[in-house]
Amino acid sequence: MHNKPISELANDLVAKTVSSVELTQYFLSRIEQHENLNAFITVDPEFSLAQAREADRRIQQGDKSALIGVPIAHKDIFCTKGLLTTCGSRILSNFVSPYDATVIDRLNQNGAVILGKTNMDEFAMGSSNETSYFGPVKNPWDNATVPGGSSGGSAAAVAARIAPAATGTDTGGSIRQPAAFCGVTGFKPSYGQVSRYGMVAFASSLDQGGPITRSAEDAALLLNVVAGFDARDSTSVQRQTTDFVAGLGEDVQGLRIGLPTQFFGHGLDSEVERTVREALQEYEKLGATLIDIDLPNSDLCVPCYYVLAPSEASSNLARYDGVRYGYRAPDYSNLIDMYMKTRAEGFGEEVKRRIMIGTYALSAGYYDAYYVKAQQLRRLIAQDFEQAFAQCDVIMGPTTPTTAFAIGSKTDDPIAMYLNDIYTISVNLAGLPGISIPVGLDSTGKPIGLQIIGQYFGDTHVLNAAHRFQMTTDWHQLEPPGD
Ligand code: GLN
Repeated sequence: MHNKPISELANDLVAKTVSSVELTQYFLSRIEQHENLNAFITVDPEFSLAQAREADRRIQQGDKSALIGVPIAHKDIFCTKGLLTTCGSRILSNFVSPYDATVIDRLNQNGAVILGKTNMDEFAMGSSNETSYFGPVKNPWDNATVPGGSSGGSAAAVAARIAPAATGTDTGGSIRQPAAFCGVTGFKPSYGQVSRYGMVAFASSLDQGGPITRSAEDAALLLNVVAGFDARDSTSVQRQTTDFVAGLGEDVQGLRIGLPTQFFGHGLDSEVERTVREALQEYEKLGATLIDIDLPNSDLCVPCYYVLAPSEASSNLARYDGVRYGYRAPDYSNLIDMYMKTRAEGFGEEVKRRIMIGTYALSAGYYDAYYVKAQQLRRLIAQDFEQAFAQCDVIMGPTTPTTAFAIGSKTDDPIAMYLNDIYTISVNLAGLPGISIPVGLDSTGKPIGLQIIGQYFGDTHVLNAAHRFQMTTDWHQLEPPGD
């Protein structure tokens, strides 16, 4: 049961061969068996089973909504009415949202069941899930290594088959990088495709929600439900609705795949490179052509991001002051002291580092030197992609320079941690869609991801390219050992 695609689960539910209550109970017990992974922050069986009963009632009445009765786990960054939403932080450790995020709302309307809220790096800042106030998540492939971050709980849950599918968010790689480390499929849609309403803000111009699933087909199905214009998010793009599942029928014959020389250079692990090149050969067999391309400003992506993302974060996180909601320091002498103690106690080290960097970059004396410069660079990075797409239809390369690393091995070196996202960050800076799919294992049995990047709002082509690979290979079916 836990290996079935969500489309099949939905069919079984509608055909009444299994009830949503049974299915939900089944995954809840799997979550319990895999508690050591620490993949979830909140699991509330009563809440989930009440939703499952409601889905069963709707099925009885003939409701055939796409995800009716299917249990789905959510990154704890999506506001859920009546359930904790902590964003992996102490400062929101007691926060129960009075409303649902649009993503949750659309899934609820379609009858999906909330299986629980997954662990994540605090405020989505991190690449290893180690900045979570609720402790690190373990990678199901090797419990001594990280699952990646910041959507590490979601990726670990899908990999361990304790959730049929999950949501994540990606500001600089947080869907794709954990998907690569956990051997699952993670899709970051074009910026503006999925509403950010009710998604706790980190860096608003980069944040984008998306699915973490076992296959591109499941991702398309989930996206069909959550994507689309939302008047409550001013950056949500109003376009004709796309049927992402129907878009999976394209051939890749003649597809021009661009390979950025910068993605295959210094710092790339040789086993990752070899495996990615083997996957590319598979595409050639399917009739695609490989073209070398240039993304000349690639080396500036990480520095550019680490000015812009902290700047936006420093502004977004100003709202956590102990007055409106969330944690408040118990002892203080006056209002300023309350603010200071609340933030000092409520935020972790990485979040404080980002707030300080961002506040500095936005300060009157340094705004032009850092923030404005980074914005100019962002433009150039987007232009690099525009020029590359004159020669190719999609871009491919490794998702990450290495496979999952040991827990604790990079926590003292923020720069080494930041470099994990060297191939993913530019995609967010340019607002493009990108997916990571599993394409093999290294010699120690850890998953390797291939990244596919598309043109702005070319989400369907990206999903289709991933799907075509998954139709002829079975890396996405591989399960972590020992279950
Ligand atoms: N690892 C990057 C960071 O720490 C990206 C995180 C994300 O995509 N949310 O900011």
